[in-house]
Amino acid sequence: MTLYEMLGGFMRRHWRNYLAAGLTLAGIAVLTVSVPRRIGHIIDQLVGHTLGPDTLLSELGILVVMGLAIYGLRVAWRLTLFPVSYQLGVELRNRLYQRLSHQGPDFFQRQRTGDLMALATNDIDAVEMTAGEAILAGFDGTMTLVMVLATMLFGVDWRLTLLALLPFPFMALAFGWISSRVHDAWRDSLERFSQLNDHVQETLGGIRTLRSLGLVKRSAAEFADLAGHAADASLAAQRWEAAYEPAVGLTLGAAVTLSLAVGGYFVWHGQITIGTLTSFTMYLGQLIWPMFAMGWVTSLLARGKAAWERLEPILSEPDSIIDSGTLPVVATSRLDVRTVSFQYPEQSAAALSDLSFSLEAGQTLGLVGPTGAGKTTLIRLLLRQYQPGSGTLELNGNALEQYRLQALRDVISWVPQEPFLFSASISENIALSRPDASRGQIEQAARLAAIHDDILRFPQGYETPVGEKGITLSGGQRQRIAIARALLAEAPLLLLDDALSAVDTETETRILGHLRNARQGRTVIIASHRLSAVMDADHILVLRHGQVTERGSHTELLASDGWYASQWRYQQLEASLNDL
Ligand code: ADP
Repeated sequence: MTLYEMLGGFMRRHWRNYLAAGLTLAGIAVLTVSVPRRIGHIIDQLVGHTLGPDTLLSELGILVVMGLAIYGLRVAWRLTLFPVSYQLGVELRNRLYQRLSHQGPDFFQRQRTGDLMALATNDIDAVEMTAGEAILAGFDGTMTLVMVLATMLFGVDWRLTLLALLPFPFMALAFGWISSRVHDAWRDSLERFSQLNDHVQETLGGIRTLRSLGLVKRSAAEFADLAGHAADASLAAQRWEAAYEPAVGLTLGAAVTLSLAVGGYFVWHGQITIGTLTSFTMYLGQLIWPMFAMGWVTSLLARGKAAWERLEPILSEPDSIIDSGTLPVVATSRLDVRTVSFQYPEQSAAALSDLSFSLEAGQTLGLVGPTGAGKTTLIRLLLRQYQPGSGTLELNGNALEQYRLQALRDVISWVPQEPFLFSASISENIALSRPDASRGQIEQAARLAAIHDDILRFPQGYETPVGEKGITLSGGQRQRIAIARALLAEAPLLLLDDALSAVDTETETRILGHLRNARQGRTVIIASHRLSAVMDADHILVLRHGQVTERGSHTELLASDGWYASQWRYQQLEASLNDL
């Protein structure tokens, strides 16, 4: 969709406001063009001594009223139209937010956060201006231009008018050339601003790392560099915009020179009165605003187009996961994974190959294997963050795609290895998964996740703020708060993705013990690099390079003496050494 199609659609939806503003502007134009004619008449009557003081006063009174009416109407159209243009900003921001919130991880892997934030602010502002300033200035300018030209042609002198119009085609050519430069310059400027945003976002996110590596100075220098480039790019765009003004000035100057020369000749030969020439030059003066308006519109449209070309691909990017399923809530949770293979778009090797297993409702599956074996990938497929390349993942006999995404999310609780805590209190962070939970339920979940005692030791207990403006929690505390959050949801399917990696073995054993007791038919998948986390699981899959290399229970796997058995012995030895 082009900028013009989008604007057209928007204007159709808000046609009442645009019509009201248009009519007001037409009123202004009619009033504006009648002023010079009245003044011309007054001058001619004064020169001919046919105007008495009373008539002069009343004529002046009329002119003052007309001036006030023009002022009032100008205020009125702004009040009618600007709220609508801000509405376009709101609509576009909502659309962008909707789009972003429906995208999967691969989209965010391709896009940079700072870039997306720049689109939501800077670029949308530029497009918003096209719906307000540009359309109005365009309408106002065109209306005044047509009225003034018509009056000059039919009411003053058509020969002088045609003569004065001679330089205008050159101005149109200049406008076309300047606007393409303005477009390119704005595009560059918007991109530079995005880069600056990216840098700020990334630097602030990683400020501790940069500080510990002594890289703050270098990063500040990079920032200064980017800020300089962004300022240069804006300046270049402004410089091109400034080129409209001399183009208008030159054109009007040429028009005035031509018409004064020829008009003077006409007056000399008595073909027109001096009053006519005066009002003609005043009309020429009235063309200044429409000409500037044209320049302003061309420039705003060029800027809006540059911003829209950056926004449109994001707004029209389809959902990475199609939510076309119809099945509602799933009550129980038997899982069947049938010959599933998956490869990340930019990878050459498969992350999972021909993976198959079944898990009865209420059972626990352990997923182990070296880093990069595909454990997280399997969990992502279960969460429908990605679509498998081949094979199916089934919940209660139906492929995951057959369920509505929301239904699926309602039955799955997921704890990632690095959970995200929001800037809110601990209790609010836990209650995210179930906003109506009572304090008792929140505390019960925290006890199951073995974090209750830690929370009581914080200055404000459950009300202690965490996240950006709150206290800093250890990795293990964050993980346990996330586990409490997941347990509070009481979803029938629980996915723990190395969710206990930062917790000591003793606490891990306590949490897993609580989980077993509180399970009540809940199906659990535990991915872990530590084998103690899966030793009690009903089934264990050992993954390596995306393939199952061993499977069975803990005892069976120890007996088969493969990777699992040797890793077990190694981790046991490591644990006993740590205990010394
Ligand atoms: P594990 O959880 O067992 O450590 P993963 O499932 O995270 O392993 O990774 C499996 C393979 O897929 C690895 O080779 C990894 O490099 C690759 N991989 C993981 N995430 C992505 C991603 N978002 N994009 C591309 N490749 C990925």
